[in-house]
Parts: sequence; structure tokens; C-alpha cells
Amino acid sequence: MVSVYIHIPFCLAKCHYCDFLSFPGGQHQFRKDYLVLLEKELSLRGRELSVAGHHVGTLYIGGGTPTVLHEAELGGLLDACRRHLPLEDPEWTVEANPGTLDREKVDILASSGVNRLSLGVQDLDDRRLAILGRPHTAADAKRAFTLARDHIPSVSVDIMSGLPEQTVDSFLNTLATVIGWGPDHVSVYSLNVEEETVFAAQYGAGMLHLPGEEEVLRMLLSGKEVLTQHGFEQYEIANFAQPGKASRHNSTYWHNRPYIGLGLGSHSYWMDKRIVNSSDPVIYRNLLIAGQLPITEVISVSRRQEMEDTMMLGLRLLAGVHFKDFSCRFGEDLRDVFSVEISRLHQAGLIISDNTGIRLSERGFPVANLVFAEFITV
Ligand code: SF4
Repeated sequence: MVSVYIHIPFCLAKCHYCDFLSFPGGQHQFRKDYLVLLEKELSLRGRELSVAGHHVGTLYIGGGTPTVLHEAELGGLLDACRRHLPLEDPEWTVEANPGTLDREKVDILASSGVNRLSLGVQDLDDRRLAILGRPHTAADAKRAFTLARDHIPSVSVDIMSGLPEQTVDSFLNTLATVIGWGPDHVSVYSLNVEEETVFAAQYGAGMLHLPGEEEVLRMLLSGKEVLTQHGFEQYEIANFAQPGKASRHNSTYWHNRPYIGLGLGSHSYWMDKRIVNSSDPVIYRNLLIAGQLPITEVISVSRRQEMEDTMMLGLRLLAGVHFKDFSCRFGEDLRDVFSVEISRLHQAGLIISDNTGIRLSERGFPVANLVFAEFITV
């Protein structure tokens, strides 16, 4: 089973914190051309997967904003996925943003076999949504959720912490309202001020008023408590699911398993290589017109790197990394491979080691990035 990600690099507008590869505004001709090229890539990769006898177990269409596509474009893309990819009862997720979802699009998604929708809500305070540059309101978010809930089997909602002028109470109010809607899955992401964004410029000019680290930590800890009280299980640092509703697709990444990325700037981890598609629309186009995959970078992953990545990604999961899984995959005991790192982190109280494996401790969670860094040497 393989996982496939498809990138749709178009949005209604550019959010002020966003550094993803996405183009704002109409882009009608570019969008039309892009979808033709993407179908070429789908057919090349699909053929390769079919010939090798692989099946696609999870398919994730993200972006950008896939639901910014017009009805006919969206239907055409989903149809192309079904025709070219060897799908086998896949978990099929599409990302959506409020304000880009209507009854017709939801019907197209549902009738095409999409069984999971990930809705970017982020916050339910209209003033803060405007500060974030989100082109929707809280009412749009509720409307979009209700439409999705009625027609798509599994619905996930993204919200954010650490936002400008956000307090613990306002964060918890958003969370409580979202929980009241009845999602199957909630992701809670913390704001990072990324370079070359509107927020980076505002931050540099002292115009962005962000909550302090301790306040953000309180948002996350109290958010976790509320989600747990409502039957959600935290299974990854930022992800909470009702029983049986964890994202299978994202679990592929956290288990450091192979996946294929399609579309502008997408990444793959395939045949022990990290593979990068061109982010340049002209190069992407020219390679596909020439009948080649639009790949511009291929990096071999050594066995040692694979082990380190497996630790770094696996420790994001609440279950951590199991000794048995590691030794089945690498033929070595992770306690031998990483004895120094484990002993250092254990002494600092940042990880827990029991007879099944190792995982982050309560104390390790807030400084998870430091823990991950311990495992990376190459
Ligand atoms: S909708 Fe998502 S991808 Fe698009 S600009 Fe906003 S944050 Fe970036």
C-alpha cells in the first residue's frame, strides 16, 4: 500500500502567515493549464505504480485550497485520480476552506469517493480572521462544516493557537464551539512567524501582538484537556481524533513510510530517496510536456538517516517508537543504535522508556523539537 499526496497551489487570497507554495487570486488560465499537466503526471506515476503492483491506500489532495477549483475542475481532477491511480479502498482526504465550499462541490466530493474532509477554520473571531488575512468569517466556517458533516463520512477541523491578540479564553471558546459541531478529528497548530510573509514584516516592525510562550502552552494544555473530556484521543503532537478516526494518510509520514507527492513543489519519499518536484511552473510544465516526471532533486537516504528520521517522526506520535517495529525494520535494537541520545533524554526527563518502546514525556512535549534534534546527526 502506498500513500499519494496531490498539491493544488491555488487559494482565494494569501493568508498573512502563510509560506506554502500557493498562488492567490483568479489564475484562470494557469489553473486550467496546471490541471492538464497534473493529469499527465498522474498518468505517468499511476502507470508506474500499477506496473509495479502497488495500490494506493491513502490519497490526500491538499494545497493551497483544492476547493477553490470550480465545480468542473474539481470533478475532473477527482475523476483523473480514479482513472489513473490504482486506488484500493483508500482513505481519500480533500482539504477545504470555508468560503470555497458549496453544496455542489460537496456533492462532487462525496459522489467521487472522497471520504474525509479537512476544513481550515483556524479561529472563530471575525476580527482575528481578518488579521490573519483569512478570506472567510466564522459564519462561513459553520456553514461549510455543516455541509461537509451532512455528506462526507469523516470531517476534520484545523484550528490555531498563538495567534495575534489571542487569549487562553478566546482559544478555548473557538475550540468549544468547534467541538460542539461534532467533528471526527481536530488538529491544533501553533502559529510560526515564517520569513517573507506579511506577519514577518509586521513582526519586524513591532506591529504584531502575539501571546507569550507560556500563554500558548496554557492554550495547548487546556485545549488537550477539553478535547480529551469530549472523547478525542491525542495521537500526535497536534492531532486529536475520535476513536478510529486518526488520519491514516498523515500516519504514513509519522511512521516514515514511503509516499508519492504529485504537483508543483511536492515531495516524495520513494525507493529510499527523497524526491522533490520543481516549484517553478515553467520547469514543471516543460518536463511534463517532454513526457518526464517534473523532478528536480533526488537525494538518497542512507540507512542511518532512515533510522534517525524514523525516530524524529515517530516521536511525534503519542505511542512513540516501538522497539519491535524498529528491530523488524532495521534488524537492530534502537536502544543500541541511540543509546547515548536515549540516556541523555531520559535523564533530562524528556522521554519515557518502557518495555514496549520510547515516547515523549509530559515534560518533553513542549520542547519536542529539541528532543527530535537529538536524533539527527546527518
Ligand atoms: S488557505 Fe492555506 S495555503 Fe492558502 S494562503 Fe491560506 S494558509 Fe496558505
